[in-house]
Amino acid sequence: MDFENSFSYAQKMDQEDSLAKFRDQFHLLTHNGKQQVYLCGNSLGLQPKTVRAAIEQELLDWEKYGVEGHFNAKNPWFSYHHLLSQSTSKLVGALPSEVVVMNNLTTNLHLMLVSFYRPTEKKYKILMEASAFPSDQYAIESQTRLHGFDPNVAIVEISAKDGENNIKTEDIISAIEENADELSLVMLGGVNYFSGQAFDMKKITAAAHSVGAVAGFDLAHAAGNIPLLLHDWDVDFAVWCTYKYLNSGPGGTSGVFVHEKHGNNRNLPRFAGWWGHDESARFQMKKGFVPMQGAAGWQLSNAQIFPMAIHKASLEIFDKAGMDNLRAKSIKLTGYLEFILKQYADHLTIITPENPQERGCQLSVIVKQDGRKLFDFLVANQILPDWREPNVVRMSPVPLYSSFEDVYRVGEALNNYFGN
Ligand SMILES: *Cc1c(COP(=O)(O)O)cnc(C)c1O
Repeated sequence: MDFENSFSYAQKMDQEDSLAKFRDQFHLLTHNGKQQVYLCGNSLGLQPKTVRAAIEQELLDWEKYGVEGHFNAKNPWFSYHHLLSQSTSKLVGALPSEVVVMNNLTTNLHLMLVSFYRPTEKKYKILMEASAFPSDQYAIESQTRLHGFDPNVAIVEISAKDGENNIKTEDIISAIEENADELSLVMLGGVNYFSGQAFDMKKITAAAHSVGAVAGFDLAHAAGNIPLLLHDWDVDFAVWCTYKYLNSGPGGTSGVFVHEKHGNNRNLPRFAGWWGHDESARFQMKKGFVPMQGAAGWQLSNAQIFPMAIHKASLEIFDKAGMDNLRAKSIKLTGYLEFILKQYADHLTIITPENPQERGCQLSVIVKQDGRKLFDFLVANQILPDWREPNVVRMSPVPLYSSFEDVYRVGEALNNYFGN
C-alpha cells in the first residue's frame, strides 16, 4: 500500500473505512482532557457502550425473579452458554458444539491439560515457546509435575535463533520431528504476546499429529485478532480469554475449543462438574456424571452470568462487524503504523514479523535508547501503548475502535520526540 504520513491522508482513510462507525460504540478514553490514542487492546479491550444495559438486564432479572431467573430471565441463566456458542464458533472457526464459554483462561488451560496431556513413560514431553506468557509456563510446569515429571526435562522450549526475533515455522517443525518419539503435546500461543508473531497453526498441528502428539493453542492474543479455522486445521483444543481483543472486561470469562473428534469421547479423563452434566437431567441432582456433548461437557460450575453478559454484548458487535472485515482493516491499519514507525528506524526496531500473515494488529518495538523515557513521553502526549521491560513498547491499533488518525497521531508524537 502507498501510505502517506499526513493528516489529510489519515482522514481520507477513515472516511473510506466502512468499519469506522464502530468506534462510536466504545467508550474511548481521555487523558488530561484530551482524547487518548488507546493502543492497549492487546491487554484490555475498551468497554462497548452496550455493556451497561446488558448487565442491567441481568440485575433486573435477578431483582425480579430471584432463583427463577434460571428459567424466566430474558436470557435464561440455566442455558446461558448456548447464547454465546454461535458467535464464538464463528470467531474461532469451529462448530457451535466445539466451543464453550466458561471460567477464566488459566483455569481452562488446566482443564484442557487434564484431558489432553496424557503422558506415558516414554511419550511425555511438551513443546512450548521459550518465554511464553508466565501463566502458561506455570500451568504447564505444574501439569508435568502432577504426572511425576521434572519440568526441566519434560518441557522442550523453542526460541528464536540467535539474532532473530521470531521463531521460524520450519524450526518448530524440526523440533517436533527431533522429539518425535517423546513428544506428547505441542502447546503454543496462537499469537505470541511479546513479539506479536502469529504461528502457522495449521502446519504446526499437522506436524504434531504426524508424530502422534496432541496440538493445543493458547489464543489469548489471537481470538478476535486474527482469522482462525480451528476445526479445519484439526487443532485438538484451544483456550482464550475475552478481555483482550474481545473487549469483555477485566477478569472476563474465557473460551474453550475442543475438536469434534474429542468432544464425545467419554474415555478422556476430565475434571467434571454439574454444569457439564447432561443438561436435561442437570437439576435432577443424581449420582453418575453424564457429560454433555461437545465442549459444553467440560463446564464445571453454573454460568457466571455477569461476565458472560458482557461477553455477549461484545460478541454482538463482532457479529455485526464480521471478522473478515475486521481483518482487512487491521492489515491496513497495522501496515500504516508500521510505515509510520519505520520513519524512525534509527531509533526503533520492530520485532513483529513484517508479513501480515504472521501477525495480528500488534507491533512490538524495541526502543534502542531510553525506552522508558519515550514511553512516558507518549503517555504524557495522549498515546497509550504498553511497556515491557527492558526496552519494548507494544502498540495494538484495534480495528474495531482505532482509527487511521490515531496512528497518524502516534507519528506526530514520535516526530515531536525524535525531531525530524
Ligand atoms: C493474557 C494471557 C493470560 C492471562 O491468563 P488469565 O488466566 O486470563 O489471567 C494467559 N496466557 C496468555 C498467553 C495470555 O496472553
